[in-house]
Amino acid sequence: MSTETTTDVGAVIERLRTTFDSGRTTDLAWRRRQLRGLIDLLHDHEEDLLAALAADLGKPAFDGWLTELLVTRDEAAHALKHLGSWSKPTKHPVPAAFQPAQAWTEPQPLGVVLLIAPWNYPLQLLLAPLVAAVAAGNCALLKPSELAPATSAVVADLVPRYLDPEGVIVVEGGVPVTTELLSHPFDHILFTGSTRVGQVVMEAAAKHLTPVTLELGGKSPTIVAADADLKVAARRIAWAKILNAGQTCIAPDYVLVERSVSEAFTGLLVDELEKFRDRAPATSIVNEHHLDRLEGLLDGHGGDELTARKADRSSRVMAPVVIREPEPDSAVMTEEIFGPILPVLAVDSVDDAIEFVRARPRPLALYLFSGSRATERTVLDRTHAGSVCVNHLVYQVAAPSLPFGGVGPSGMGAYHGKTGFETFSHTKSVMRRPTRVDPGFMYPPYSPLVQRVLKFVTRW
Ligand code: NAD
Repeated sequence: MSTETTTDVGAVIERLRTTFDSGRTTDLAWRRRQLRGLIDLLHDHEEDLLAALAADLGKPAFDGWLTELLVTRDEAAHALKHLGSWSKPTKHPVPAAFQPAQAWTEPQPLGVVLLIAPWNYPLQLLLAPLVAAVAAGNCALLKPSELAPATSAVVADLVPRYLDPEGVIVVEGGVPVTTELLSHPFDHILFTGSTRVGQVVMEAAAKHLTPVTLELGGKSPTIVAADADLKVAARRIAWAKILNAGQTCIAPDYVLVERSVSEAFTGLLVDELEKFRDRAPATSIVNEHHLDRLEGLLDGHGGDELTARKADRSSRVMAPVVIREPEPDSAVMTEEIFGPILPVLAVDSVDDAIEFVRARPRPLALYLFSGSRATERTVLDRTHAGSVCVNHLVYQVAAPSLPFGGVGPSGMGAYHGKTGFETFSHTKSVMRRPTRVDPGFMYPPYSPLVQRVLKFVTRW
């Protein structure tokens, strides 16, 4: 059985620690085997995985393939390709006064790490962190989301068949299991989920001084400047919003559009959303609770709804709703939406949009549509966000070489590509000095001459 219950969490961690202590995970060959195993798992069980994603979220097969399997495969392939160079020591210069000596840094695996995933991309957000963890030579305990039970079960079944079953272990379960896991010391925790639970994780980790990477959420703004290509902007924003029914941590949460083009842009946006709604298969809202939550966000926002509300209770498919000018202090403008609702607010200028963003918690992503490099530079310099995509959305997280992480309440730390490898490695500093020469004047009591010479060579 690959599925563990609350009672054997301590034993599971012990097994992983024994494996780590054996030293075998440090070997690059072991790491490469895990990465190849993961790629094979995704290849051999594409249909099982897509079926699980469909069962959990009604995810259309191509969406699941693109945003979960392909992104994870690319991440693993990138790590496999670059692992050799990432693992090499880096030489550092040694000050004259310390000569003769050699200095370098070398990455070392941290040990046993805990990876906790959410339900919205239940495969990618569990396995992409695993790529980073095993590439860096760690043993990993994976905790999939209980709100995506089919994906959780298939991963728990497949992982021990493709990866070292004593080096990577899946523990399924909900809040009690996570709470139990968090009571144990780990060498690192990577948590992906809400800001609220991120605080719970960090508090529990603090008891053991376990370092954390927190991949959290928030309200990611999209700014549309008057000089943007409005048609392309409308289509891309509509696409990013309907992707996974808006249940994407870096989805455009709301749009700030320059007033002079607001009417034209909003019309195009509604057209594009209605086209997607009528022609493309949609992901479901994950459960009744979230459907109720989203319908609740539609109450009392004070704006105009430009598309018809339509939610099917049995399939939990919800049509996108565009809200023009909701009240800035309404729930839809203060809580993370995480669903197919898109508020659009007109602003007098890009500067006003910047002020709007700056007055709110730092988001996970920020999007800008503009034809001007000067506007792009101003927005980049004057706003804070985990990542930015200019003239498109979401693509920035799919490039394995770009770090992915938040800032402030949208998260801390990052992973993907080399940054993920570094997140799960300790950069150890090493200095080596020869014993051939060991002059007595370098030891106390230091003669006045030695003191003068040392002060001279280290003067500032
Ligand atoms: P969540 O925080 O409710 O749950 C995430 C994980 O934490 C799950 O595995 C769950 O079992 C566990 N958990 C839940 N409550 C807990 C508690 N009280 N104590 C201990 N563990 C607990 O998040 P979710 O609803 O699964 O996902 C949605 C949130 O995740 C959104 O805020 C979204 O923005 C964010 N998110 C962030 C990223 C990112 O990469 N930054 C990606 C996807 C989702």
